[in-house]
Amino acid sequence: TSDMKVDVLVIGAGPSGCVASAYLHQQGLNVKVVEKTTFPRFVIGESLLPRCMEHFEEVGLLEALKAANFEIKRGARFLRDDIVCNFDFSDKHSEGWDWTWQVPRAEFDTILAKEVEKMGVTISFEHEVVAVDIADNGTSTTTIHDADGNPYQVEAKFIVDSSGYGRVLPRLLDLDKPSSIPEHSSIFGHVKDVNRPEGEEGTLITFDVLDKDTWFWVIPFSNGDTSLGFVGKNEFIDSFEGDTSERLKTMFKQSDYYYERFKDAPLLFEPKSIRNYSKAVTKFYGNGFVLTGNSAEFLDPVFSSGVTFATESALKSAKLISKQLKGEPVDWEEDYANYIKSGVDVFATYVKEWYTGNLQTLFFHRPENPEVKRQICAVLAGYVWDKTNPFVTKHNRIVKTLAHLINMENEKSASV
Ligand code: FAD
Repeated sequence: TSDMKVDVLVIGAGPSGCVASAYLHQQGLNVKVVEKTTFPRFVIGESLLPRCMEHFEEVGLLEALKAANFEIKRGARFLRDDIVCNFDFSDKHSEGWDWTWQVPRAEFDTILAKEVEKMGVTISFEHEVVAVDIADNGTSTTTIHDADGNPYQVEAKFIVDSSGYGRVLPRLLDLDKPSSIPEHSSIFGHVKDVNRPEGEEGTLITFDVLDKDTWFWVIPFSNGDTSLGFVGKNEFIDSFEGDTSERLKTMFKQSDYYYERFKDAPLLFEPKSIRNYSKAVTKFYGNGFVLTGNSAEFLDPVFSSGVTFATESALKSAKLISKQLKGEPVDWEEDYANYIKSGVDVFATYVKEWYTGNLQTLFFHRPENPEVKRQICAVLAGYVWDKTNPFVTKHNRIVKTLAHLINMENEKSASV
């Protein structure tokens, strides 16, 4: 016997859990969210994509976010040696939002969770899901530890696992599988941006490319702090000595462009590190449950797709759950798994082609081809389901082919 019955149990109150629970609640369903930590809590994932604005808008979370005055992100800048590649979201192939934000997630996620509570959803903070038992008819009994460690059980018609790095159902139901993305690791932290230049230069989100496998991000926030993070192969990240502060500071010496700005910037906490962050699962849904956001899949931070994928999958799955619980038939394979996979596959190709160097060849080739750039820009804005974009529909060939042509052209001009 359970202590409580709900329609839907949502695990995790990050962006994915908040978007799912807001939608389900608006459909008149009885939703409970359990969140292991207390908010505000730190989580990485600070650069958003325009596409996710649609999700927050649709479930009524956008206005509260707007009021927080986060730094506006209108594009993204990639640097390599002295070549600059600037994407402007207002100049892209697909229809849709042309701006978003760069956000300290502790604050951002707290606003989302508070708004969802205001709508009438119960979020139990410091409650941790420890076990799940799903019956053949999909009804589940979940064991949760409350803040004092006391166990209780919740019966639900459906579970949304939005537990992010907690990966609750992939762990409990043994759904993990190796990711197809090459292994990389990261060290990241926040600094007080004491030397921030005036104007756009100070607030631009930038990806500084050191070599094919190694890059770092600069994500300035509107509160005057900036997020800095290095990404590289494990061997690169492991080759630096000392604690994470020392390692981050030493790595920073490699950036000609940013070293002066950040060399004296005080770190706001001991930087964090994460190894082999890419994750994948054997299935995105099952009898009585669905995986959303990072709990389902995480590729790589290079195109900032994490939160957008988290909210896209949350909203999509919430719509299907609501249909199903109203007695309508739902084709989870077609309308969830295949839909989500088609978007993830586009990003996966771009991530892989980033690390083969092919995409970098396209980004940094001069002169730029404006049409190609607009089409790639739409992908980078998160519009990876737009079938009018050849950089979506032909993703697994087009980047490779164009890079090959550019390389041949370069070889030809080098040999003249
Ligand atoms: P989360 O935001 O992780 O939320 C999950 C919640 O579930 C947490 O609050 C957690 O406490 C809770 N939880 C966990 N276990 C349990 C449990 N047992 N019981 C109850 N609750 C539980 N994404 C971007 O969009 N932009 C970026 O710039 C970006 N940069 C990144 C850089 C790096 C190095 C990495 C590794 C990732 C980055 N990401 C980025 C990805 C981003 O972190 C995630 O995709 C995003 O946070 C996913 O949101 P979510 O809602 O799925 O999970």
